[in-house]
Parts: sequence; C-alpha cells; structure tokens
Amino acid sequence: MSLEFFNTMDRRVEPFEPISAGEVKMYTCGPTVYNYAHIGNFRAYMFEDILRRTLEYFGYKVRQVMNLTDVDDKTIRDSRAAGVPLREFTAKYKQAFFEDIRTLNIEPAEVYPAATDHIPQMIRLISVLMEKGYAYQAEDRSVYFSIDKFKDYGKLAKIDRENQRSGVRIRNDEYAKDSVADFALWKAWDENDGEVAWDSPWGRGRPGWHIECSAMSSEYLGDHFDIHTGGIDNMFPHHEDEIAQSEAASGRKWVNYWLHCAHLMVDGEKMSKSLGNFFTLRDLQARGWSGREIRWVLIGAHYRKKLNFTFEALAQARQTLNRFDELFGRMRGISTAGDGSEVDESVAHALEAFERAMADDLNVAEALAALFDLQRAANKMADSGQLSAAGAVRVLDTFRRFDRVIGCLEVDAEKKGDEIPAEIEQLAVRRAAARKVKDFRESDRLRDEITRLGYQIEDAPGGAYRLRKL
Ligand code: AMP
Ligand code: ZN
Repeated sequence: MSLEFFNTMDRRVEPFEPISAGEVKMYTCGPTVYNYAHIGNFRAYMFEDILRRTLEYFGYKVRQVMNLTDVDDKTIRDSRAAGVPLREFTAKYKQAFFEDIRTLNIEPAEVYPAATDHIPQMIRLISVLMEKGYAYQAEDRSVYFSIDKFKDYGKLAKIDRENQRSGVRIRNDEYAKDSVADFALWKAWDENDGEVAWDSPWGRGRPGWHIECSAMSSEYLGDHFDIHTGGIDNMFPHHEDEIAQSEAASGRKWVNYWLHCAHLMVDGEKMSKSLGNFFTLRDLQARGWSGREIRWVLIGAHYRKKLNFTFEALAQARQTLNRFDELFGRMRGISTAGDGSEVDESVAHALEAFERAMADDLNVAEALAALFDLQRAANKMADSGQLSAAGAVRVLDTFRRFDRVIGCLEVDAEKKGDEIPAEIEQLAVRRAAARKVKDFRESDRLRDEITRLGYQIEDAPGGAYRLRKL
C-alpha cells in the first residue's frame, strides 16, 4: 500500500516517495525547554509519533531528529528570572520532557541534539551565508538574513513578495506574518542576555532560534531529506526562515515533504502558555488521568483538524479503553476448540480498513473505526459461542498489530486485578456468594461497600466478575 501525505508546501495530498528506498529521514522541531510542555505541545509530538509509527508499520526505517531548543529569547528570559544558570535551568525541563514522552508512550527519536551543543555548526552555517552574500552584519552588530537576496522567500507560508518590507530588520525569534523582515541569525550580546554568550567572528553573542534547526538538521540528516514537521504555528516565521537559511547555503532543495498539525484548542482558542489556558501532562496526571488515556484523546482526531480539549473526552477515553481491556481479558479466557477460521473475514476486513485509513494521510479517526468493528465482531462471536481459542488468539494478534501505531491498547498489560487488595477481593467473593443464593439486598450492600472503598465491580456472564480501581 502506498502512503499519501498532505504536503503543506504544495497544499495538497501527494504520494510519499522517500529519497532512498525503504528509508525516511525526518526532522521535527522539538520543545523549547523553559517550562513543562503542555498537552498542546504534545499534540504536535503525538502527531509526529503517529507519523513515525505509521512509516515503520509500512516497513520504512526511520531516522528522526528532534532538537531541544535550550537557548533562545524565552529560555534566557526565564532562567534569569529564576536566578538559575541557563544550562541548569534547561536541564530540569529536558529531563521532564523525556519523562513525559515516556508517559505518553511516544517512541524516542534517534537523535535529540541540543542547540547549545552545536554553536560551532551554527557559526559555520552563518559564515557560509555571509560568504554567499545572503547575510550581513548590521549597525547593532547582530547578523541578519537578507530576505531580498533569497528569491524563494515566502514559498511555504505563501507570502506575497510585493509586500515584503525591504531592509526592515527584526531581532525577536517570534513575529507575525505581517511583520515579515530580515531576521536575526546571530544576536549580538546585550545586557538582557546576562552570562549567555559565545565568541564568533562577529563578536560575542548567541544564535537566533531559526538557525538552530538548519544547522542541526544538516549535521544529522544532510542537506536534503524527506520530511520536516511541526505545529502549524511553526510554519511562519520559523520554517520559512529555516528554508531560506538551508537552501541559500546549500543551493539546493532542502525538504521534500512538510507536514503540520493543527492546534489543540480550549474553548475555541489555541492552548498556549501565553493565553494561560493550558494543562501540562503533569496537571492531568495529578487529576488522576493516565498517560494512556491522554494519548487516546490526543490521537483521536485527524492531525489537520483542530481538536478541542475537554475532560469529557478523557472520561470517554477511559471508558473506551476499559472496554478494550475487557475484550482482551475475554479473548484470553476463551477455550473453545476450533481452527480460528471463523475470524478470517472480520480480521482481514479490519486490517484492510485500518491500513487504508492510515496510508491516507494518517486518517486515525477512520482507523479507529476498524478497531471498533473488530471489537464488535469478536464480542458477538464470543456471545454466541462461535469463537474458538485459536480465533481469539488471532483477534489479539490483530490488536497487537494495530497497537504498533496506536500505542496505547496495552493488549498484553498485566491484568488490573493483580493490584486489588485482599480486603476488596474478600468482599467481592462474599458478594458473589450472596448473588448465588439470590440475596440481592446483601449483594447490593456489598457492592456499595466496595464502591465506598474506591473499587468498581462489574458482573460478567456466569457469575464471574471483574474488579477495578475507580
Ligand atoms: P514550542 O515549545 O513553543 O516551540 O512548541 C513546540 C511544538 O508544539 C511546536 O511544534 C508547536 O507548533 C507545537 N504547539 C504549540 N502549541 C500547540 C497547540 N495548542 N496545539 C498543537 N501544537 C502546538
Ligand atoms: Zn525548528
């Protein structure tokens, strides 16, 4: 099956063809480590994880590079406000980031280069841009990229060249499309930078944000690679500026496919630090939500559609995942004889639908429908006694296969029942006994007691039951 992705550069869905057969080189703009990442940021990393896992599912070997921005306007500002040296300040958030991606079961990239470890590469790249006449040092001693010199400037964000303000300069890392200008490659030291400075041919200073990604991608992926990703807000100016730097330096096309995800929203607005409407992963964990449940919510919508974050969605995720747990437990318990051919059709159908959906520009929402179809079919066969142990094994295998992309089905997770305290188990056993003799008053009383102690009991056919922590 061939994969198709929406390429932001051309604003259309295109067949994916890697530069080298069977291999994908991919660069993803990583976190600015000045705080804990919020789940809006994680929507972007989650989309990239689904992309990566899908490529792997279809047999590609992926080399992914994700940078850590550990020097920029924001990291310097906040480390100074905290009175902590930059390196120490960012180290804490780097570590938190790695903990968080583990919580969300995001597959690690092959390389996580930190900007401060690649200053010489950035200086080299700026030197090339100076030699080729694309960059200049201004009166403020900072070095800027001259967008007039690069004829393709604006091709990603579709900026009208006529309206470009010639010769105007901007020193900030972030700015809006209507203030397009020559942007800083190297920022001359000023007192706001405190201790943060490196020597360069243009005097002491520090790199701009955009040059970090051009220098580090070239270091680890070369100057022409397959995929570059990020959240849609990264498209301008960040990615536009990256293209200008990289293509001006190498004189060739830099990236073949640009993929961007839409925002995670809260009440109609982008979740962001500046609006203060954000939840970190840790906030949600503290409220009792698991990484698995949060992952399910974040992957559920198509990556190019806005996704509204709500707590109802998390509650829904919990229910949905519980039902999968039940299905997997049920499949393991089936012992009926048979060759398993009864699941041939459902399994083939579900796999085909799942793969078709993922190959079609990562249509996760449709892929999930295939999971639900197989769940329904398996439960139905089990209800009517038609499902054999061999068939159940194949159903489980199919879900394991889906989970290579989905990443939170936990088909083989230890049974939750293992963590139930003996006291609760005893109450449940007494309740089962009461039910057997149809003493429903006593069985209801015991159920309430179990609930009061924070556990839920669910009855299964034939007097069986399942306990779980509320
Ligand atoms: P930053 O640390 O601000 O550079 O952002 C890291 C990544 O998160 C970038 O790819 C952003 O585009 C992305 N991002 C930030 N806010 C959101 C949001 N609300 N929804 C989706 N992606 C976001
Ligand atoms: Zn970047």
